[in-house]
Amino acid sequence: MYRIKEIYFTLQGEGFHTGRPSIFVRFSGCNLWSGFEKDRNTAICNWCDTDFVGIDGPNGGKYSVDQIAKILLDLWPSNNPSDPYVVCTGGEPLLQLDEKLINKFHSIGFEIGIETNGSMQPPDGIDWVCVSPKANADFILKTGDELKLVFPQNKINPKQYEKLSFDHFFIQPMDGINQKQNIKKSKEFIMKNPLWNLSLQTHKIMGIP
Ligand code: SF4
Repeated sequence: MYRIKEIYFTLQGEGFHTGRPSIFVRFSGCNLWSGFEKDRNTAICNWCDTDFVGIDGPNGGKYSVDQIAKILLDLWPSNNPSDPYVVCTGGEPLLQLDEKLINKFHSIGFEIGIETNGSMQPPDGIDWVCVSPKANADFILKTGDELKLVFPQNKINPKQYEKLSFDHFFIQPMDGINQKQNIKKSKEFIMKNPLWNLSLQTHKIMGIP
């Protein structure tokens, strides 16, 4: 059984596929923070803006492969002409995502994307791998389609990733109380380093999940 925080249909808000109709499957749990505020200061990743604790979100629960597949089929709008796309996110989806679920998603006609912190190797078969490395965390997954760096982070210089095997490199300003400064710093970095593109959290601008 997979522990799922929430499943919902939306538009991808960030990175290369911004604007693409997608079903988000948010897996419960992360290996870099418990998700509880009392642990934030001692967490490896301490600026997270996502609630990935438990299974109590929309369409959340403990599910088998077939149950998740049915939810996806029910949620994908029958009048949407784009290729069905599921984004596996978290928390850290690679704590749970396995080949059985990947094969099921493909068998019902979905392309599969993943948003991972890069601290674990994924199973085979994922169609779009987006890695978002975190300072102080193990960084193992050094290849993929998209590297999306939340910026700035102490102890991370984006240039350390430039030689890695990714097709797209994104800088995404960190949200929070310093957001304006972070946007300015992101803009300055990208203007000087043209390998990198800007990723904004457009779902927050649009007010969608
Ligand atoms: S790795 Fe991602 S999900 Fe986990 S705590 Fe950090 S930002 Fe949140």
